[in-house]
Amino acid sequence: MEENSRRGVPADLHAMTHGQLSELIKSLGQPQFRVKQIEEWVWEKNARSFDDMTNLPKSLREELAKVVTLGGVKQLAAQTSVDGSRKYLLQFPDGVAVECVGMPSKNRLTVCVSTQAGCGMGCAFCATGASGLTRSLTSGEIYEQVMHVRDDFNTRVTSVVFMGQGEPFMNYNNTLAAMRKLNSPEGAGIGARHLTVSTCGVIPMILKFANEPEQFTLAVSLHSAVQKTRDFLMPGVQKYSLLHLYDAMGEYVDKTGRRPTYEYALIKGVNDTNEELDYLREFCRDTLAHVNIIQLNAVPGSKFQPSTPERAQDFVRELGKVGVEATIRNSRGADIDAACGQLKQRMMRGRR
Ligand code: SAH
Ligand code: SF4
Repeated sequence: MEENSRRGVPADLHAMTHGQLSELIKSLGQPQFRVKQIEEWVWEKNARSFDDMTNLPKSLREELAKVVTLGGVKQLAAQTSVDGSRKYLLQFPDGVAVECVGMPSKNRLTVCVSTQAGCGMGCAFCATGASGLTRSLTSGEIYEQVMHVRDDFNTRVTSVVFMGQGEPFMNYNNTLAAMRKLNSPEGAGIGARHLTVSTCGVIPMILKFANEPEQFTLAVSLHSAVQKTRDFLMPGVQKYSLLHLYDAMGEYVDKTGRRPTYEYALIKGVNDTNEELDYLREFCRDTLAHVNIIQLNAVPGSKFQPSTPERAQDFVRELGKVGVEATIRNSRGADIDAACGQLKQRMMRGRR
């Protein structure tokens, strides 16, 4: 069962396994082929109401509506960036709201989803971290964000990044269940390699993830290869030392043969010094890792400022000299508060 199913709230069809739905259909005295029909409506067509399920008898639709819900996210706000990205603030039936973003390019549509409302890891540079954790999302709630964006763009989703609010590896089972559904041909049918989960470095779960059979992609937020700096920037993962992380990532690469990404947001005067660059180079050299140098999104009221674009280029060049592949990732939708948590913060302050 879901880690997070809430007592007293009717079960959401998105959170039910195939077996559970099959049981329900049996208990309603219906033939099993209805299960497939219902799953098509839920996972492929993203039906918003039982009345949409036109190939089911009306009596069954009415019975289903009595015992299960169809999720039902409400769009509280949306913003469109000049680059075409769209950011949404979506609310679930219990009032909790999260963000997700759709980023179109040529024939592709990438969706960035949240795995928790808020986050308990407390990273110093992150808007989400500032307000703490409200709750983890169910797998259905994670999946629904992707479908909401798909329906709004009215096009197929080609990849999903789990880089919105929350720490996916503090909500491991539900995140994995959502990834599997997104991957499955009966769900969104998105290739496993195009599903990227980003973690701040919860080591036991990195090791668990290495043993999953699918070819999912892993990104780790590194932000500093100096223990003292990383402890200060990312207090939530202090107990997992960099040495430990280094070994865990070695094990991940050995097991999977897949190239992980390290995310590194350059913060002026904090993790962009020559000493920091030296440590980063040593941490990454002779590993398979790819480094994503990110422009820090300035969070209102934060003491942290982004480094200059020239400094980002220095990092890429110096990493390249020792054979470490690095690229500068453009922060999409920077003009629409695309940094983690910022749209929500603005909404809450009522300043839209
Ligand atoms: N909790 C996960 C995934 C969500 S955060 C994680 O930390 O990896 C997604 C990415 O955004 C992470 O790499 C995170 O470090 C980064 N991030 C958070 N705040 C940021 C900011 N103000 N500017 C740039 N990147 C930021
Ligand atoms: Fe949580 Fe990731 Fe933000 Fe850190 S960066 S507070 S882990 S969402």
